Amino acid sequence: MKIWKQIAGAGLCLGMLGCACPSRNALYQVSTIDALLAGVYDGDLPLADLRRHGDFGIGTYDRLDGEMVLLDGEFHQVKASGKVVPPDPEGETPFAAVCFFRPEMDFAIPEGTGMEGLEKCVDREAPNPNQFCALRVEGHFKTMRTRSVPPQKRPFPPLKAVAATQPVFDMENVAGTIVGFRCPPYVAGVNVPGYHLHFLSKDGSRGGHVLAFEMVAGTARVDVLDRFMVQLPGTEDFAAVDLARDRQQDLKGVEKGKSRR
Ligand SMILES: [Zn+2]
Repeated sequence: MKIWKQIAGAGLCLGMLGCACPSRNALYQVSTIDALLAGVYDGDLPLADLRRHGDFGIGTYDRLDGEMVLLDGEFHQVKASGKVVPPDPEGETPFAAVCFFRPEMDFAIPEGTGMEGLEKCVDREAPNPNQFCALRVEGHFKTMRTRSVPPQKRPFPPLKAVAATQPVFDMENVAGTIVGFRCPPYVAGVNVPGYHLHFLSKDGSRGGHVLAFEMVAGTARVDVLDRFMVQLPGTEDFAAVDLARDRQQDLKGVEKGKSRR
């Protein structure tokens, strides 16, 4: 059993041993983005369980308490105060997307590249828009603008209302890592179509959900994923929420910070 765990942890399993490791080359996610937009904020999956499905990813914490960065197997919680702390190990997540990051390609990002430029670079290197990509960018940033979100109390307001008062952090001359995913257009309602990126500074003291940046220099690594797994919450809120409504406009405002005052 111990050996099996080590092998699974190293991400080497299917094919080699003929086993069916479900997380191999998969984006594993908890809940749906529309449920989060609608205010389904109660954590439902323990972080320890989430960690079994990946060592790399993004999301949020119980009651929307900050932004999640999972990097090299370590969880970081970017609080609304701007402080980055290790999350409660007993904590749970209401929404997260993770994978075992095993990149197939890396390439340099030119000086002066911003968010749109980075997306174009990745689209050029990983041109199949119908596959998922995990993206890790290590670099120096002339500027980096992020946001976080504060923990919510019942009755939970929709994410659009929370994002309208979100704290925004502006960093200058900062080294760090962008962690995120590109999802295909057909996941609308389930995850974020296009790019969803979080940031953690190299010293681990700052970060958040990425709104904008300008790079000095950096390297991108991409892991193309050909599986998609969704763990649905077992909460009463998830059972009661109306997910028939199209929330794409709300999502645009929330993701790009357009609903900010
Ligand atoms: Zn985010």
